Amino acid sequence: MLNVRIDLAAFRHNLNAVKALAPNAAILPVIKADGYGHGMILLAREALKCGAPMLGVGVLEEGRALRRDKIASPALLLDGIFPEEAAEAVKYRLTPVVFSLEVAKELNRIGKKEGKKIAVHLKFDTGMSRLGFTLNEATEAVALIAKMKNLSVEGIMTHLASSGDPQSPQTDHQLRRFEMVLELVKKTGLKPLYIHTANSAAILHYKYAHHNMVRPGIALYGAPPSETKGVEFKPVMTVASRLISVKEISQGEGIGYNATYVTPRKKKVGVVLGGYADGVNRLLSNRGVFLVHGKPVPIIGNVCMDMVMVDLSRVPSAAPGDEVILLGGGTDETSAQHWADLTGTIPYEIFCRLGVGPRVQRVYK
Ligand SMILES: *Cc1c(COP(=O)(O)O)cnc(C)c1O
Repeated sequence: MLNVRIDLAAFRHNLNAVKALAPNAAILPVIKADGYGHGMILLAREALKCGAPMLGVGVLEEGRALRRDKIASPALLLDGIFPEEAAEAVKYRLTPVVFSLEVAKELNRIGKKEGKKIAVHLKFDTGMSRLGFTLNEATEAVALIAKMKNLSVEGIMTHLASSGDPQSPQTDHQLRRFEMVLELVKKTGLKPLYIHTANSAAILHYKYAHHNMVRPGIALYGAPPSETKGVEFKPVMTVASRLISVKEISQGEGIGYNATYVTPRKKKVGVVLGGYADGVNRLLSNRGVFLVHGKPVPIIGNVCMDMVMVDLSRVPSAAPGDEVILLGGGTDETSAQHWADLTGTIPYEIFCRLGVGPRVQRVYK
């Protein structure tokens, strides 16, 4: 059982840090994937209390989850919808991101049938080659959608592929293409309320990408993807567990599956509950570090499905039942960035894997 502690004050702090960086833009907090593993519902409420006009989720099911929990605010479906999901999106007053004419037509048809205008955000692919009308498709798409009387184009957006790398020319290239899209939109007479391109990294590095709405995700969770130029973001998630067993192991004994660690001398070894089934990546075997009584204790042997063994030599008083900090706790070695470095990934994936599953108990403070 992992204990995942969510620090709501840190979340608010990060939200305010984003506000200070983009004072003229509305904030669309991105809480897809269960709030990057932090818990979507409570963070949604917190973000709305802080004045966010709209929430960013991924798929229809996440939007429905907001409504089930009585969150009635506007919510943008960032991953778009399939045509057959259009009716439900409308029913739950969720705002789809639209990047296909087929979906636009279907939404327009439903709007006409119900005698109302359906709000959508149009997405353009300016160089990431993921979602969005390409520049080749844009002229025709905008012209056709502008004529759909039961659609209301509330937003125009694109997504940046390399904003975390300010040396890369790709962001300027994408933003130049986006300016062309905006020209096109203007010419058709559409007057979108929101123009948005910036994820966390672009909020930090590309002021001219802010327009009048920004879409922070990872920065709100306290792990900005690049240099923060002195802006402080606070980690929101702490992951804790406990020692289920503590023993003296003699010299020359193998630790765990395949004995990838052999005790060089007599050692105190602890067994921590929580393994790869809980999001503790097996690549942390013999590499990662946890904290016991505030002291770093190295992982020894292979990470198991449910457990991890640690070297308690530096914490002679450690006993079964004692708390173990796996992630967080204020040291670099137990930061999401360090976990990511050791396991060949990015903090995003660390969070998404740690905060979920039936054996996780989430606690908010
Ligand atoms: C996930 C997502 C974001 C948030 O990105 P971060 O790098 O976490 O700030 C913004 N926009 C879109 C379209 C996304 O899918």
